[in-house]
Amino acid sequence: MRRSPKLRPNLWDGVVVLAVAALAVACAVGIWQGGGSQEALTAVISVDGTEVERIPLDQAGETRRTVEGGGYTLEICLTDTEVWVEHSDCPTQDCVHTGRISRSGQSIVCLPARVVVELEGGSTADDGLDAVIG
Ligand SMILES: [Zn+2]
Repeated sequence: MRRSPKLRPNLWDGVVVLAVAALAVACAVGIWQGGGSQEALTAVISVDGTEVERIPLDQAGETRRTVEGGGYTLEICLTDTEVWVEHSDCPTQDCVHTGRISRSGQSIVCLPARVVVELEGGSTADDGLDAVIG
């Protein structure tokens, strides 16, 4: 009178359905995150007019760079959507006060250190050049 032969396939069906559902959700989340509204931005760091590093923001995650120029040291923070100078020992502190940049064409300039951080890539069509010079 036991119903195990009938129960077993049903159990397996349930497991398969759950697995497929989990996979579908994982795929959906992956696609959703991968094809986000913002296109990939690249932070270009230049010292004294020379490009020293390019950091694709979507690959960098949250990271920071220490850049030296003109005898000053800048600490630049990068996330996947924003870049800013967190700390600098330059006399004007304009680069720190510039705040966060998040759009292509924007830049942070530290004149005393001759350091420029610029965002490239992403969608430039409607924004155009919108430099923040400090
Ligand atoms: Zn500065």
